[in-house]
Amino acid sequence: MQRNYHRTNEAHRGLIIMDETKHEQPLQALSRHFRVNGGRWGSYRNLAEVPLFVDSRASRLVQLADLVAYATWRRYEFLDGRFFEPLIPKFDADGGVIHGLVHRRDVKEGDCYCPSCQSRRRDQR
Ligand SMILES: [Zn+2]
Repeated sequence: MQRNYHRTNEAHRGLIIMDETKHEQPLQALSRHFRVNGGRWGSYRNLAEVPLFVDSRASRLVQLADLVAYATWRRYEFLDGRFFEPLIPKFDADGGVIHGLVHRRDVKEGDCYCPSCQSRRRDQR
């Protein structure tokens, strides 16, 4: 996690790369908002560049992000972990707590044993 590296003086620069879509204009405004005001996980201090928009057909990086998103979607929407399970060790984690994957859900739904919730459960002990 960017913030963790920052605390240990191992700051790295990051990029926000988005797929070009017909929604590019509202996304550019949103990306400016993130850059100035931060996002859900705080401010983005170490961005190397303004958010970039690329054609996903020309970018293997964006295609990879699409595959990760698809695997994650299959896991959480259909409990199909075939593509997701091999990715779990790749999510950013510190002390066994996965920071690179957050499961947003209603607490009324009861306990969840997905990798994200499970890692945070260990953190509360
Ligand atoms: Zn969960």
